[in-house]
Amino acid sequence: MTVSATEAPLDVVADFPAIPDGWAYLDTAATAQKPRAVIDAIARGYDTTYATVHRGVYQRSADMTLAYEAARGTVARFVGAKPDEIVFVRGATEGINLVANSWAANQLKAGDRILLSQLEHHSNIVPWQMVAERVGAAIDVVPLTDDHRIDLDAMAAMIRPEHKLVALAHVSNVLGSVLDVERACTIAHSVGAHILIDGCQAVARLPVDVAALGCDFYVFSGHKLYGPTGIGVLWARGELLDAMPPYQGGGSMIDRVSFERTTYAPAPTRFEAGTPHIVGALGLAAAVDYVTGIGLSRIHAHETALVADARAALSRINSLRLFGPADSAGIVSFALQGVHPHDIGTILDEHRVAIRAGHHCAQPLMGVLGVEATARASFGVYNGAADIDALVAGMERVVRIFG
Ligand code: PMP
Repeated sequence: MTVSATEAPLDVVADFPAIPDGWAYLDTAATAQKPRAVIDAIARGYDTTYATVHRGVYQRSADMTLAYEAARGTVARFVGAKPDEIVFVRGATEGINLVANSWAANQLKAGDRILLSQLEHHSNIVPWQMVAERVGAAIDVVPLTDDHRIDLDAMAAMIRPEHKLVALAHVSNVLGSVLDVERACTIAHSVGAHILIDGCQAVARLPVDVAALGCDFYVFSGHKLYGPTGIGVLWARGELLDAMPPYQGGGSMIDRVSFERTTYAPAPTRFEAGTPHIVGALGLAAAVDYVTGIGLSRIHAHETALVADARAALSRINSLRLFGPADSAGIVSFALQGVHPHDIGTILDEHRVAIRAGHHCAQPLMGVLGVEATARASFGVYNGAADIDALVAGMERVVRIFG
């Protein structure tokens, strides 16, 4: 079947050597494929320019330190932050654990409460449960609206001064629902709570400016932003970061060490113990340059058009249930009555269509949706109408097999 062309095609698939002709890669929400520019930046980093950072007295190390810090600057500009507010971490998961262990473990006490939502990824649930258990805090959960957004009216009604921290996804990795972050921040701050935004699915799909959003912490992973794995970002408002104790101890994060007393380096160095993922930072900066070169607004328009086309085509399939709001950002989750999503994924793979099937690290959300698992197609800059055609053709085969 033919699907209408998207309104804003990007046509950049040739930049991605790992996407062969005719392979519909629809699992970008799990991890994005890498453009040549990122692969080249990583290769260059390990090639003639490689050396450690921050320690070396020789020129190569000084140059690498400049490049590593320049990468921090690139990432800072990308999200409207100051370079000193950018901590390089392993990924969103480590960023959230850092805030939980450094900020929350010291700020929260017995009787305090943490507010999450029903659609959070496990990495924005479990670290808070661990710290809540340690300090004797409790967790409350904001429900979803009928069209599967975080219900901010419900949040406004349930929040109270005992809530010291709110942690919400900017874009749901299952549903694609986009949070009105500014409103969520206003609600959180109305009771004096701090708010962390999990931007894992957002930074590659929408323009993000942390100052304009008004949040206190923002985290994301490089590998979902067309960059390398093993590198991610924690942004925190400068004064919060300055007051936070170290998360891990080790080399680089110190001022002076003696057996009697150790003092720590200022932020962000205080939070980057050990030799960092040097080349990962360079690859991440190349990824930021790549998406900035296309333009986040164009990427958003492109993916919104793909979602609209995919939802329209899938909704014509009998017994197919679509989840999430119509204007979701780049992600479409669905289920077919009587067919396990793993079977959908396997049959689609035979059609050279790669989707994700499972609970997507959001088991509580599966309970809310009333399913064990969903099938999820998620889009990136390289996808186009042909990928949706392939998805729909594959789904029609699934229906023929199980129908
Ligand atoms: N939050 C969201 C919304 C995600 O989609 C993911 C990755 N699926 C994460 C957090 C965790 O990211 P990572 O595994 O890269 O740390």
